[in-house]
Amino acid sequence: MEKIIVHAKFHTGHRQLGYPGKCRWVHGHTWRGTVTVSTEAFPRDALDMSLDFGDIKAIMRALDHKLLVTDQDTAFLDPSLFEPEGLVRLEGKGPSVENVATYVHGHVVQLIERKYPGRGLRYQVEVLIQETENNIFIVDKTVTV
Ligand SMILES: [Zn+2]
Repeated sequence: MEKIIVHAKFHTGHRQLGYPGKCRWVHGHTWRGTVTVSTEAFPRDALDMSLDFGDIKAIMRALDHKLLVTDQDTAFLDPSLFEPEGLVRLEGKGPSVENVATYVHGHVVQLIERKYPGRGLRYQVEVLIQETENNIFIVDKTVTV
C-alpha cells in the first residue's frame, strides 16, 4: 500500500444562514486540511512522481481569502454587491465544514481522473478538514479511477 499525505492551511469567511446562533453572522476561520490518498501502487509520471503535492495543496489553497457560499446566500451571489472572484460556491445548503470537506474530496478525485484516467485502480481518498482547534470533519471514500 502507498499513501500520499498533504497538509494545507487556508483562511476563509462564511456564515451559516438560518443557524440559531452566532455562526449565522459572517465570520472567519483558519482551516487546516489534510488529504490522504492511498492505493496499492500509484501510477508514476515521467519523473516517477505519483500525485503532485502542489496540485493537491492548490485545491485547498484555492479557498484561501475567499468567502464560502452556497446557492441560498443570494446577497453574496449578487455581483452588484460582491465581487464574484472573491467567492467559492459550494454544493449544499450551507458552507459547513461537511460541505468544505466534500468540495475538497470531489476536486481530489477529479485531479486523479485527469492525471491517471481509466486505469481501474481503487483509491482511498480521505479529506480531513479542521474548522477550529476542536472541530473536525472527515470524508473518507473509496473511488475507482
Ligand atoms: Zn464558521
